[in-house]
Amino acid sequence: MSLTGITARLREAEKSAGRAEGSVTLIAVSKVQPSPRVEAVLDEGQRVFGENYVQEAAFKWPTWRAKYAGIKLHMIGPLQSNKAKVAVDLFDAIHSVDRPSLAERLANLANARGASPDLFIQINTGEEPQKAGILPGQADDFIAACRAMYLPVVGLMCIPPDGEDPGSHFRMLAQIAERNGVEGLSMGMSSDFELAVAHGATHIRVGSAIFGDRAYAK
Ligand SMILES: *Cc1c(COP(=O)(O)O)cnc(C)c1O
Repeated sequence: MSLTGITARLREAEKSAGRAEGSVTLIAVSKVQPSPRVEAVLDEGQRVFGENYVQEAAFKWPTWRAKYAGIKLHMIGPLQSNKAKVAVDLFDAIHSVDRPSLAERLANLANARGASPDLFIQINTGEEPQKAGILPGQADDFIAACRAMYLPVVGLMCIPPDGEDPGSHFRMLAQIAERNGVEGLSMGMSSDFELAVAHGATHIRVGSAIFGDRAYAK
């Protein structure tokens, strides 16, 4: 696949879901991808990117930000509290607000800076013990607590369990968002983004289908 191919499939998915053209933001997930692949996608005009690791992103993106105007960076991986300060300076959005201590840290940073990245709350829809995220039963209270701290909660995010039908998880996320008046839905990856769009995704996070497989062994 390629950026053009994925963009075409996204436009098609928006159309069949009765969604407005361009209403879904494509986040190109560039974690651990070799620089030439990322530069090729930048040259094709893509400006919204997702990264999982604060240090890697802090290393790679200042140069590209200087070279290409209009870049928006989304943090989609787990965020350690001790990296929160670097993260809020680097990222335009954070999709992995997954615990009260992190929300408090982000609120303190927002007060000190007078600004905050857009925040998505990660929901552990599959209630998997090894996975980050707020349990569905605690989502309403957590969203309320974040709002009470004046955090800009723009959306919810989920990563469905491997080997399960992602559709039921997308549906659950959409329901939690709906009853809490949250507009953004960050859901859908390379293998299931069309289904996510059908369930109301506003942001899809697509990596390997754009850039090719990630070679983790460096
Ligand atoms: C890596 C990653 C993606 C992209 O996954 P692909 O299957 O390569 O599209 C999306 N979301 C999160 C949270 C990720 O960590």
